[in-house]
Amino acid sequence: MTRKDPEKRRECVNVRLRARYADEPLYAEEKRIRSRQYQATHKEESRLKNRRYRETHLNEIQEKDREYRKSNAEKISKKDKTYRDKNAEAIKERRRINRLANRDHVNARQRAYYAKHPVPARQYQQTYRIANDEKKKEQNRSYALKHPEVRRAASAKHRAAKRNAPLNDFTCAQWAEMQSVYEHRCAYCHRRAKGHLTQDHITPLSKSGSHTASNIVPACQKCNSKKGTGTVLISIQPLLLTIAPPQKKKTS
Ligand SMILES: [Zn+2]
Repeated sequence: MTRKDPEKRRECVNVRLRARYADEPLYAEEKRIRSRQYQATHKEESRLKNRRYRETHLNEIQEKDREYRKSNAEKISKKDKTYRDKNAEAIKERRRINRLANRDHVNARQRAYYAKHPVPARQYQQTYRIANDEKKKEQNRSYALKHPEVRRAASAKHRAAKRNAPLNDFTCAQWAEMQSVYEHRCAYCHRRAKGHLTQDHITPLSKSGSHTASNIVPACQKCNSKKGTGTVLISIQPLLLTIAPPQKKKTS
């Protein structure tokens, strides 16, 4: 008999053993018990051995796994679902952490998906918007309540747009700054009116005045309505320089 290589010899032994296990169930049971005892007392060795086995038999294991999954699909999906139901929160948290850790990768994948499926992506966005419409509205409402000056600035801009103001770049931040430079006083009567000043357009919007810092001064209600769309009450020098830049959309 020629000498076999160790791999073949082991396979030979295994075949013989398997045959004996099949023939002698008692012997097989005894072997199983002893093996379990060994594993319990030699955890580290067992782990290493298992790992080595997995590494050298990867394809075989994967093939077996696939077969098992195919023939037990229903059982597995049921088990998976039970697990998901039981651990919904933990799974969500794990996914969140994963997403954060792989943000670039996730974003790239999403971009690729959107590029490939433009219509469903748009539909998804639409669905999302509709689903979150109320939430968004509520957010807007509470923001508007907290920042009335932002809303006022927006409506002033809107009024100027309706009048086709040549320049329409006056911002909420500029208005706040202008009032503080004027020490919250009316530019005409110099009375202090903190929180009650109005934006007076030196050249009125109705006469093609611009809604821009160089055409606006703070005025009290009284002086503003006295002036109306007429000429300025006293000669006035508008603020030519403000620190806050124009055309800024969001201001705090
Ligand atoms: Zn005044």
